[in-house]
Amino acid sequence: MGGRDTDIVLLDENGIRCDGRKVNETRKVTIKAGVLKNANGSAYIEFGDNKILVGVYGPRDVHPKHMSDTDTGILRCRYHMAPFSVGERKNPAPSRREVEISKVIKEALEPAVMLKEFPRTAVDVFMEVLQADGGTRCAALTGASVALADAGIPMRDLVAGCAAGKAADAVILDVNNEEDQAGQADLPIGYMPNLKKITLLQLDGVLTPEEYKQCIEIGIDGCNQVYEIQKKALQDKFFASGEKQ
Ligand code: ADP
Repeated sequence: MGGRDTDIVLLDENGIRCDGRKVNETRKVTIKAGVLKNANGSAYIEFGDNKILVGVYGPRDVHPKHMSDTDTGILRCRYHMAPFSVGERKNPAPSRREVEISKVIKEALEPAVMLKEFPRTAVDVFMEVLQADGGTRCAALTGASVALADAGIPMRDLVAGCAAGKAADAVILDVNNEEDQAGQADLPIGYMPNLKKITLLQLDGVLTPEEYKQCIEIGIDGCNQVYEIQKKALQDKFFASGEKQ
């Protein structure tokens, strides 16, 4: 954020963004559920040029045991960027940023997962970012919801993620890496479309109250679009023959 790269035209005179999108358009999202045979549930998501693999284990015994809760299951999330996921090699050790993103994704998923149904156990969600291009927390959250559902974990709703933001003085949907670096604001949203509840909301940058409202509106619209793709991925996995939809 903060206009580091001034050479990029973020929005041309026709209102077209640096990657050819309109202001209210998301990148192409594709999701495949059940891609890893050794995990209980899994998903692979491409969100524009972001590529993320998610593996879910559990509910399973908690080690160390003192971390378990007799009243409820616990959710543990690890968001990790592969060293080759960004232009300059990333140190594979967890950074402060990865610890933060793991935490916000855990808190964004918790309202959706019916953890009380399996006390004393843990559900582990591992998100591996293979390629990053802005908006990885929303993409990882989206993929994690599908992987949890693929694992058969009881859920109240899926959580769909999509960011809104501001670049070249315009409110935009689904902020890419260039827009994140050279733009004015990034507002990632996690949303449960069926329950109409926001479970993740962060803001990096500055927005007026009116722009903030617009960001929430188009961000929720983006999440609703992502939700349809999540449901399709699960239908494709569980009704692969196509006879039941
Ligand atoms: P998000 O990926 O959720 O938008 P950030 O706003 O923190 O999270 O990061 C924006 C983008 O910056 C990432 O998607 C990635 O493309 C890039 N990025 C993050 N960490 C690094 C890093 N260590 N090296 C290079 N690029 C990075």
